[in-house]
Parts: sequence; structure tokens; C-alpha cells
Amino acid sequence: MKILYVENDKKLIACIDKHCSKTTHEIILIESVIDALLCLKESNEVELIITELNHLELDILSYLKEIRNLKKDIPIIITSNNLDLKVSLKEFSELNILSVLEKPFDFDKLKMLIEKLDENKRSFHYKEKIRELKLFIKPFKEFSFYSETDLEGKIVDISDSFCHLVGFKKEELIGKKHSIFKHPMEDNTKYKEIWKNLLNGNSWVGELKCLDKLGNDIWYKTIIFPKRNENQEIIGYAAKRQDITEKKYVELLSITNDLTGLYNKRFFKQTLENERNRVRRDKKNLVFIMIDVDNFKKYNDLYGHLKGDQVLKQIAEILKINSRRTNDFAFRLGGEEFAIITSITPTLSLSKIIRYTEKIRKEVLNKRIEHLRNENIGFVTVSLGVFNYKLEMNYSCDEIYRFADIALYEAKNSGRNKVVIYNK
Ligand code: GH3
Ligand code: MG
Ligand code: MG
Repeated sequence: MKILYVENDKKLIACIDKHCSKTTHEIILIESVIDALLCLKESNEVELIITELNHLELDILSYLKEIRNLKKDIPIIITSNNLDLKVSLKEFSELNILSVLEKPFDFDKLKMLIEKLDENKRSFHYKEKIRELKLFIKPFKEFSFYSETDLEGKIVDISDSFCHLVGFKKEELIGKKHSIFKHPMEDNTKYKEIWKNLLNGNSWVGELKCLDKLGNDIWYKTIIFPKRNENQEIIGYAAKRQDITEKKYVELLSITNDLTGLYNKRFFKQTLENERNRVRRDKKNLVFIMIDVDNFKKYNDLYGHLKGDQVLKQIAEILKINSRRTNDFAFRLGGEEFAIITSITPTLSLSKIIRYTEKIRKEVLNKRIEHLRNENIGFVTVSLGVFNYKLEMNYSCDEIYRFADIALYEAKNSGRNKVVIYNK
């Protein structure tokens, strides 16, 4: 604390000096009352005034009133030996004097008064900080789509803004597991990574695809972090998010095909490269499937381009449904040509690939879309060429593409509505 001490008794000054050296408070010792008033006028930092009322150059009341004029709230302690003569207690109370010490006084008593003031000041500052923090926390939570869970992931706090965004009422969410927002298509390895980080006491930052109450997709950029008590033990988890759905849609638009909603050729190139590298790390086989509609030119000629477009959409839906796992991708490569990239554990892979691709072929046939000029089948069919890129192989993306294309060519040549797996 910064203390202004007004005293002109030489003996007392020596005593104060001695005490000053031991204290952490900053003490400004001034002998004249006029100088003291000047000092108060100039300094905004004085937090306590200790003043005598003896050798005054002006009368006591004017002096104390002048201090109060200058500093409305600073505590004043008076030290004097002829108090009763000069100032009535009533006047003291109006001037809000903290204490009056009659000379000679016990220095320890003064020290106690100062320490008490200092403690009050600190606790006041602490309370002020908490109040400020509370004022700040609410808008912070509202602005950042905030939620908080216990250790089991049950929601214990959630901001109104977040409730509004996901279309739930607060009471519908409190006590529910946070997984209520989980998207069935979101990568499970992401959630594993989140828990691994949190359980190790770390935070996780990343993008998450979630669901709102109506089942719409919402994308967040999220930070999730452990909440700790005063002993640093983790007592729950908190998350703040940024809604990046629009950005994701724009991104999605640039990598998808308008007519079918499947991924486009541009994204295909990037994905084949990425997946080719990923399967190596995950010790999997990559399965690349090319799908081409049979006799589609004839379909257009017979039924018209618009109906042809509808067929492409229907086939795209079948491919979408069959590529729902996290690392499955379905593409429209162009025209009536599609592709799927999927991965598979190396053991038992061939029978599984045959089952998977045959399922797609049959689902298209079973749609029973009339196509009277498709061989002698009478319905729309597709041919599929498959390349099983095994762990022990080392081919480029172009080669992978070429092998599947060769298999597709064989499927066409052997009568269409077929699955051929490249095997050389
Ligand atoms: P194949 O069984 O050998 O694949 O014969 P195909 O007639 O399907 O193959 P071809 O490559 O000769 O013809 C592809 C046809 O696909 C040509 C075109 O009429 C049609 N096509 C390509 N893109 C579109 C499209 O966006 N909409 C429609 N309706 N038709 C398309
Ligand atoms: Mg075709
Ligand atoms: Mg074609």
C-alpha cells in the first residue's frame, strides 16, 4: 500500500523510519500539513493517510475537510494528543475517519490497522476480479456455442446460443450425453483421438460434423478441453465451437457433381492419392471400382437425355448407399462413368470384394429401369471393373486406374452387366 504519513515530531519520525525499513508498504513521510495536501493533490496512488493534528498551519476541521475534498474514499487514521479539545466525534464520523490513536500510541496497534486495511483491499480486489470474470464469462459462453460435460460426457452446462443453433431447449439437453450431437458418418477415429487427448489432460482442436435436432448436418471447428478443480484434478470437459457449416458446403460444392451429388473427378484424383497412402499406414488393401452404365447411348436415344439424367441419379443413390463407411468414396468421373474407392482388410478380401461389387450390380438391375435396347435384359444395368490394390504391391495411381479400366473393358466384352476383377 502507498501510505502518506504526516508527522513532525523528530522522535516519532525516527521511529517511523525504523519501521519503514521493515515493511513492504511504501511510506511517504511528510512533516508539513500544507505539503501533505499538495502531495494528495498530485498523487492518485495514496491509499491511506496517517496524520497528526498538532502543529497545524490551519484549523483541524478545514484540514480534514480539505483532505476529504481531495480524496473522497481514502481511509484516514489520526494520531494526536489533544483530540478532545479540537474535534468532536460527530465531526469525525462525518469525515469518515477510520481510527484515532492517542499519542503516545503502540506502534503495533497502528501496524495491525494497516494490515487489516491491506487485507480488506486485497479481498475487495479479488471480489472485483471475480465479478469482472463472471461478467465476462456469460457473453464468452454465448458467443462461442459453449457446452460443458461431466466426466461421463453428460451435459451440465450449455449456452443459449448453442441450444438455439441445434434447435433444442436447454432442459432437453442438460443431463443428456453429449453424443446426442454425434453424426453417424463422422470418423470414429476422430472421437478416439479426442478421448485419448482429454484423458491425458490435453485439449483437442479440430473440425467435427454433427447433427442438430432435426438431423441436419452442422460443421464445427471445435476446441474441447478438460476442466480442473483447484487441486488440478479433471472434473469434466468443456467445448467451444465455431459454426463452419457454410464454409464446408462451399468446399463440398467444389468437390461434388451437381446432378448426382457424388464427388467429382477433381476430388477423385486427390482422394485416390490420399487413400493410396493411407491404406499403407493402416495395413489395408485399397479397392478401386469403376462402374459404367451399359448401352447408355442407346438409352438416351430411346428415352431422351432428361430420362437419362434421372437414371444417372438413381445409380448415384445406389453408390452413395454403398459407400457409407468413413473411408468409402463414390465419384462421378464423367458422363455415365462412376467409381468407388474403398478399403478392406487383406484377409478374405477377394470374396468380400465380389460380394460387395455384385451387390451394387444387382441393386442397379433390381431397380428394373426399363431399357429395351440393353442387350436382351430389358433393364438398365452397369458393368464393374475392380482392382484390388494389395499391401505388397506398389503401383502408381495411374496404374491403379488403368488396371480397373482394363477389368471394366473385359466386363463390357464379356456381355455387360458383369463384375470383373483385374487379375494379372
Ligand atoms: P457401353 O455399354 O459400352 O458403355 O456403351 P455406352 O453407350 O454406355 O457408352 P458410350 O461411351 O458409347 O456412350 C456413353 C453415353 O453416355 C453417351 C451419352 O449419350 C451418355 N451420357 C454421357 N453423359 C451424360 C449425361 O450427363 N446425361 C445423359 N443423359 N447422358 C449422358
Ligand atoms: Mg457406358
Ligand atoms: Mg462410358
